[in-house]
Amino acid sequence: MKIAFIGLGNMGAPMARNLVAAGHDVLCYDVAARPQGLTLAKSAAAACDSAEIAITMLPNGDILRSVADEVIPALPEGAVLLDCSTVDVASARAVADQAQAAGLGALDAPVSGGIGGAEAGTLTFMVGGDPAAFETATPLFEVMGQKTVHCGPSGNGQAAKICNNMILGITMIGTCEAFALADKLGLDRQAMFDAVSTSSGSSWSMNTYCPAPGVGPASPADNGYAPGFAADLMLKDLRLSQQAAEAADADTPLGRAAAELYRIFVEEEDGAGRDFSAMLPRFERRERG
Ligand code: NAD
Repeated sequence: MKIAFIGLGNMGAPMARNLVAAGHDVLCYDVAARPQGLTLAKSAAAACDSAEIAITMLPNGDILRSVADEVIPALPEGAVLLDCSTVDVASARAVADQAQAAGLGALDAPVSGGIGGAEAGTLTFMVGGDPAAFETATPLFEVMGQKTVHCGPSGNGQAAKICNNMILGITMIGTCEAFALADKLGLDRQAMFDAVSTSSGSSWSMNTYCPAPGVGPASPADNGYAPGFAADLMLKDLRLSQQAAEAADADTPLGRAAAELYRIFVEEEDGAGRDFSAMLPRFERRERG
């Protein structure tokens, strides 16, 4: 397929490279990054000229809206705008409406799986948008990922993503505070892992991404808490879920508490640039009160 790829950061560049490796004709653009091994256009609009699909992988909803203003008029009628960024539900729905009004298909398809998943082509895509556009994009999801879930109309991919990450932020905090309590009760961390990972307290945070170094499968904890999934990005996603909860009038007390804890960790403590599982060394240093 003829593809425009806009936003060549930590995630976008490896995703675009996988599409090139699969034999697609990919013309790329980034406002700053100049990654190796990709063909670059002079502007986002130039990358879209005669593209069948334009993929965006951008930092936030405001940037997505401004790139969409440029890209939508440049795409041929019937093309698909596929946004893989994590953005607020309102921006995803506004951009999809704008694309559809211009005769384009539109999908929001945020990903789970991080930089490792982008490089290995093993991302999970959570997709919102119309079935015809979904069908057009499916072969590309199969190159860039290993699992794709069509969640319903536009915005529902973002809704699934922020609900998933709200659960993840809450369970990671719960797992870390339980490890720190177990330490103080004299419970060995390996014994704690062996008991909980096979009991009803098990979760992805405990079993697959254990925040305790040397325990469970290899995780960022075994690499000095280098990300992985940075606490800053978890804070971004928790803020998006709180913004959505506010707009939808949903009561999310634990989501709100998780957002506030990650805010303190990133903005007032040493969490910036560390993996989000570094909540464990944070709790282990602290006392009650
Ligand atoms: P990044 O900051 O590394 O990359 C974003 C890129 O967008 C940068 O290269 C930047 O120069 C470019 N950009 C900014 N404004 C632009 C514009 N107007 N036109 C063209 N390019 C522009 O971010 P990332 O880690 O690649 O993440 C991208 C998206 O994926 C974010 O929404 C993030 O929340 C989401 N995400 C990231 C991860 C992760 O582990 N990094 C995991 C899942 C989802």
